Amino acid sequence: MAVSYLKKDSSQNEAIFSQEDWSSAYCNVEKELNNAELKLVKGSIPKQISGTFYRNGPGRLERGGRWVHHPFDGDGMIAAFKFDNGKIKITNRFVRTKEWKEEEKSQKFLYRGVFGTQKEGGLLANAFDIRLKNIANTHVIKLGNDLLALWEASSPYSLNPITLETNGISDLNGVLKKGEAFSAHPRFDPGHHKKERMVTFGVNTGPKSTIRLMEFSSEGEKAGSLLSDRKDSFNGFAFLHDFAITPNWAIFLQNAISFNPLPFLLGQKGAAQCLASKPDGNPQFLLIPRDCGKFAGAPPKTVNAPKGFVFHHLNAWEENEKINVESIFYDDFPSIGPDDNFRKIDFDLLPEGILKRCEINPNKNTFNCSTLSKQCCEFAMVNPYFEGLKSRFSWMATAEKKEGNGPLQAIKKFDSLKEEEISWSAAPRGFVSEPIFIPSQESKSEEDNGWVVVLVWNSIRSGTDLIILDSKDLTEKAILEVPISIPHGLHGSWVEN
Ligand code: FE
Repeated sequence: MAVSYLKKDSSQNEAIFSQEDWSSAYCNVEKELNNAELKLVKGSIPKQISGTFYRNGPGRLERGGRWVHHPFDGDGMIAAFKFDNGKIKITNRFVRTKEWKEEEKSQKFLYRGVFGTQKEGGLLANAFDIRLKNIANTHVIKLGNDLLALWEASSPYSLNPITLETNGISDLNGVLKKGEAFSAHPRFDPGHHKKERMVTFGVNTGPKSTIRLMEFSSEGEKAGSLLSDRKDSFNGFAFLHDFAITPNWAIFLQNAISFNPLPFLLGQKGAAQCLASKPDGNPQFLLIPRDCGKFAGAPPKTVNAPKGFVFHHLNAWEENEKINVESIFYDDFPSIGPDDNFRKIDFDLLPEGILKRCEINPNKNTFNCSTLSKQCCEFAMVNPYFEGLKSRFSWMATAEKKEGNGPLQAIKKFDSLKEEEISWSAAPRGFVSEPIFIPSQESKSEEDNGWVVVLVWNSIRSGTDLIILDSKDLTEKAILEVPISIPHGLHGSWVEN
């Protein structure tokens, strides 16, 4: 299926897109709105949908005429789309980090960005300034009464879930030490052990790396309270952006990667630009027993993993003593070098993300890996009730073409049982971001019953559209115009009323 809501010239090849259209999304978010209603331009909003779609991403990409070196260095801007009785209203706010406030005042970049943005003053000013700017731009989730803006190398910022006003850095009621790393990829256990939990981690990296695995209650009055906490150390530098859970395991993939801090110390590169693949290295799955599972208290296991680089996992489950984990693999670590212009990146020269499934045998230290789809994809997810359990359906953002790299322009539903897929496309002039699954009343028993919501950059009008799709067949339920233009973003979440 290829439904296009934008004007499509039928003479155009499906893979054609304009680099200018794609990069036109990199702009500053100019306004902060309070409950501004979105304009419905097609269809109708299902009235059963009631809750808030929160979304985080870089919203400030330029100061005083200078642009960030990489969009991931842009300050976090949270948008909250409130669905209520067939209407959607947006409230949006920048996260008032200490650094955002200082830079807002001076209208200059005063801090170095992890992805290579330099502060003013050249090499001399940047050398030996190893402060990391917590830009709180990667993910946003609700835990208890707090909305948390997440950035993995430091602690979360707490915001008011309604007004989006920033409360300040949160130590989660004393759980985190000052500035302690806290992943931007928590996983929500839907009740593997009766009650819902948020499972997450922080990594302390070095020649030996330590993973702190934490589980928090995420329902009722106790939401936000720490339920379990363990630390495990592994040899080698660990770059762990995401992980996966099953009822008994937390599953990490330690990429074979090295970190040479010298160019960072000397002010030549951002810290993330100092990461490099180790082609001869041995990637490993790190399997940590969950404290609520049947291996509680046991030591972790390490199992060899396939070559390649993984940022994101889709899902994991246990079957016959084996662990299945589905992940998006790249041939190499994709990076934007100090001399590259992010607007002009050549998609053909960058590795594409490929969805693969690894069946791990933790007892024999072996794995089997198979490719699920060759189409370039990112931002994949399952129905949240199936998190950590065997799942058949997934939804993800994909390139328009079937093989090779390209900008994300379509939403795909993948059926791993029948090995079938259907897509909804915004090509050639629309660019999609992460799809979020909104469960319906039937979603617990019928895995693909619900909706998918996604923000699309509409380059025809240089603006952002919000699209609601039926999660079963990807038909368009509604298209709405968002009253602000939001750059290509990162992660978001759905919070039911
Ligand atoms: Fe991520």
